[in-house]
This record gives sequence, structure tokens and C-alpha cells, in this order.
Amino acid sequence: MGYAEITLKLPTDYSEDLLRKKIGEEISSRNFTFRILKRSLDARNKRDIHFMTRIGVTSDNLSGNTPEIQKLEIIKKQTYKKVVVTGCGPAGIFAALILQKAGFHVTIIEKGAEVAKRNEKITEFEKTGTFDSLGGYCFGEGGAGTFSDGKLTSRTKTISVEKDFIFDTFIKAGAPSEIAFETYPHVGSDNLKKIIPAIISDFRNYGGKVIFESEVTGIFKNGDRITAVGISGKESGKIEGDFFIFANGHSSFKLYKLLISQGVLFTTKPFAIGFRVEHLQEELNFSMWRRYSLPGVKAAEYHLTADCDPGHAFTFCMCPGGKVVQSAPDEISSVVNGMSNYARNGKFANSAVVTPFSLEELAGKEISAGKALDLLENMEHDFYNFRKSFDIPATRISSIIHGGKIADLPESSFSFGLVPADLSEFFPKTVYERLKAGLQIFSKKLDCFENGTAMGLESKTSAPIKCLRNQDLTAAPFTNLYICGEGSGYSGGIVSSAADGIKTALKIVTDF
Ligand SMILES: Cc1cc2nc3c(=O)[nH]c(=O)nc-3n(C[C@H](O)[C@H](O)[C@H](O)COP(=O)(O)OP(=O)(O)OC[C@H]3O[C@@H](n4cnc5c(N)ncnc54)[C@H](O)[C@@H]3O)c2cc1C
Repeated sequence: MGYAEITLKLPTDYSEDLLRKKIGEEISSRNFTFRILKRSLDARNKRDIHFMTRIGVTSDNLSGNTPEIQKLEIIKKQTYKKVVVTGCGPAGIFAALILQKAGFHVTIIEKGAEVAKRNEKITEFEKTGTFDSLGGYCFGEGGAGTFSDGKLTSRTKTISVEKDFIFDTFIKAGAPSEIAFETYPHVGSDNLKKIIPAIISDFRNYGGKVIFESEVTGIFKNGDRITAVGISGKESGKIEGDFFIFANGHSSFKLYKLLISQGVLFTTKPFAIGFRVEHLQEELNFSMWRRYSLPGVKAAEYHLTADCDPGHAFTFCMCPGGKVVQSAPDEISSVVNGMSNYARNGKFANSAVVTPFSLEELAGKEISAGKALDLLENMEHDFYNFRKSFDIPATRISSIIHGGKIADLPESSFSFGLVPADLSEFFPKTVYERLKAGLQIFSKKLDCFENGTAMGLESKTSAPIKCLRNQDLTAAPFTNLYICGEGSGYSGGIVSSAADGIKTALKIVTDF
């Protein structure tokens, strides 16, 4: 048996039969097996939009060697060591799963609820405006990753083995198999609500324990070692362990402040802020494809960047056919984000438009991590205080670009209200100017861009602070404390946070 990789240009609505026929023609044989390695949509020529597909083919007719695929190796240990993981998001889940499979005794502590209960609470929140931290978009089983858009893209270059493990785990738990080869893989919130509980169930089958609706509110230490965490909520008390992994995400400022108060070293770091923009998906499809729909492709998606003078702006976390959501971390803050289901068949498309930002830029001087959190929290409160509700200020993109009064706003997917407002009053001047310059450039790249609406505060693109990590991945100055995932400041998004959790777990497995 030999192997070759071939690249095929395929129509967007190609069938399995056509794919087989084309592979057969390419290798001059009808006997082969194949695996799609990569698939991306090429829409540069609007009259010839197609998939470029890279395929690995195995056949008697071929002479090449099958490439070796490097797999994540989990060394099995005989150990009585206990690991306490705070946070049941992608980082916490994957760290816990690896350690439990390796033979450690792992307990996950999660302040939010299980997916089913979270779902009910989110529905109630969107209907009544009553916020419940057990069931917001940020907290609970699966973390911020569950009710997300479920895009599984990552720009980190050093995580290919971890990424394969994450995708394999997702596919075994019910994710669509094409995530393994799409350039922009997407599972959607509806699938994540099934995938995450399936992975947790697997973790429990290996002997792992999860405590939901219980918050880590205390840390006990002895010199440079953490000895236990104090929890309160559905379960309360002290949980002792040998290793403590904090995979707490970046929405719980309360926990950040607890870690800082216990001497964990954090510094500020740059991140990005801005607002969400929303368009009609059909208009966007037409702008990008010169037709309203394309067979075989769910919805058009864009990734835009703009070099502004000074600085730059970019779109982030685009959700085709999705919905803008109120992802407030508490009852007095307002933060927007976006999600979509697998079918991406909603009427609207949304995306963040953001610009790099540091809270030191806002303070005008060097500040501590704690002060940075206060400043960001104030900004999130300002958006809530605008109407003392989860309604958000919004404007037409054309008004930002050309000026003029905003009398009315178009229909939106956002469950709360949009209130016409001048967004320049909500952002630091330099930030607003960069966002405005970005919108001007985006509207030249996509002719429908000006027709959209800009709304709310997008402040959770990544963590505003990062911990000081030692070479062995411990968080300084402690020797058995690990902070991983988005809350550590070293990852952003589902895949890179899960990969950071895996790397942390593997480090514990090899070091101890
Ligand atoms: C609406 C929305 C859409 C998104 N869409 C995407 C997307 O499409 N693709 C993508 O890559 N990323 C997306 N993201 C970002 C992504 O969800 C995060 O990057 C990812 O979940 C980070 O993983 P994590 O495990 O580090 O942290 P998190 O997922 O934030 O998990 C941290 C967990 O720790 C828990 N916790 C915090 N403090 C405590 C405490 N004191 N005690 C106990 N538990 C605690 C929290 O409740 C939470 O469940 C989205 C985020 C949101 C909110």
C-alpha cells in the first residue's frame, strides 16, 4: 500500500460520489481509501467559488509512505495524588481528563450549574432580565465554551498534538467529523450542549468527581504550597489536594482578586476591546458571494483587519447566522458576545470589531493587575449603568463613519433592548478613533458593512492580566499551583485554552 496527498478543486455542493470519482481520476485507480486533511472555501473569484480540498489517499497504485501521525501520549501512573481543579471550562475539563486518565484523583469544582440547568437559567435571563450566576453565558459546565459559538479555530502554532486530541475527544462525544479538516471548524452551541456533558460523563467514568454550584472562595497555604481550597454553595467546606489547577477563565474577577490577595503574581497584559456589529446574513452573503446563498455552504463569514493610523482594528469571533448575547459576568455589568447553532441559519450575522488595548493606556501610567481589573470592571459597569439594565447602547455603523443623529435602529437578534446612543461617549477617545477608522476600511472591503449596527461593549476578547508562570508551569511564587486556560493570560478561545489545560496536566504527569 502506498500513500499520496492530493489537492482537489471541488464545487461547493460536491457529493461523496464526485469526490471519489475525482480521487480515482487523480491516482488512476478505483481502489483506494482516503481522508480529507484540509478544506477551505475559495471565494476570491465570485464566478468560481469552490472548495480547495487536501486529501490523503492510500492505494496499491501509490508508492509514497504513509506519514506518521504523532499522538498525545498519556503515561499511566500508580499514584494516590489528589488534584483539585477550579473551573469546568475547556481548560479545566481537558486538564482534569488527562490527569484522571493518567491515574491521579481529580475533583473539579465549578461555581455554575450543569448544562441543563444553565440552559433554563439563560432562557429565564433573556426573558426576564433576572441574572443568575449559576446560569449565565460565562459560568457553569463547559465554562464560557458551552453557550459559545463553538468555533474551534486557533492561531497557536505549538499545539498540533493537543489539538488533535481535543478534536478527537469532541468527535467521540458527538461533534460533526468535519471539524477535523475545516479551515474554520465550527460545532455550534446546540452541539456543545451535548458534547460537553458527554465529555464530563467520560471523565466521571474514569473515576473523576465534579462538584457543581460550589464556588472556590478561600485558599489555604503553607509556605510556597497550597494545601486546600475553601468552597461555598451547594457543597461547602475545605478540599485538600496535592496539586491545585485554577482554570477559572477571565470573567470571574472575584477569583482573580482572591488569587492576588493570596500573593499569586499577576501583571497587566494587552488585550482588545470594542463593540459588536450586526448585519443581515443575506446581505453579507451577497456582498461576499454575489448571491444570497451558496449550496453546500451554510453562511458567509469574514475575517477583516485594518491598519489604521495609528494602530489597527480587526474583526473577531464572527458568528454567521448567529445571535448577539448579553454575556454579563454579574448583575451590574454589561458585556456582549456572540453565539450560533450548528446550522448557522439565523437571519443575522455578528462579529466583534476590536482594537488592541491595554488598561495602562486608560490609566495613563503603569498599574497593578488589581487596579487593571477595577478599571475594566468600571467600564463594564458603565455600560450597565447607561440604562441600569442589560439593554445596550447602539448606533448605525454609517452614523459612526459619517456622523449624524441616530433616530432609529434596525431589527436585531439581541434579546435585550438596543438604545440609540453615541458610542464615542463610552470608549476612550483613542480607542473609539481606531474603531471608527477600522469601520471605514471594512466598509470599503465589504459593501454592505455600512448597513450594520454597532452595539455594546466587547471586553472579553482575552484576559486583561496574566500570571507569572515558572518554567515548570507553576504560578509564582507557589510550587503546586497551576493557572491555565484563558484566566492565566496565556491562551484565548476554546481550543488554545483546552490545549493549555492539557499541557499543564501533562507537565504534572511527567514531573510527579
Ligand atoms: C458567548 C461566548 C461565545 C464564545 N464563542 C467562542 C467561539 O466560538 N470560539 C472560541 O474559541 N471561543 C469562544 N468564546 C470564548 C471561550 O468560550 C473561552 O475562550 C473559553 O471558554 C476559555 O476556556 P477556559 O476553560 O479557560 O475558561 P472558561 O470557559 O471561562 O471556564 C472557567 C470556569 O471557571 C469557573 N469559575 C470561575 N471562578 C470560579 C470559582 N471561584 N469557583 C469555581 N468555579 C469558578 C467558571 O464558572 C467557568 O465555568 C466565547 C465566549 C462567550 C462568552
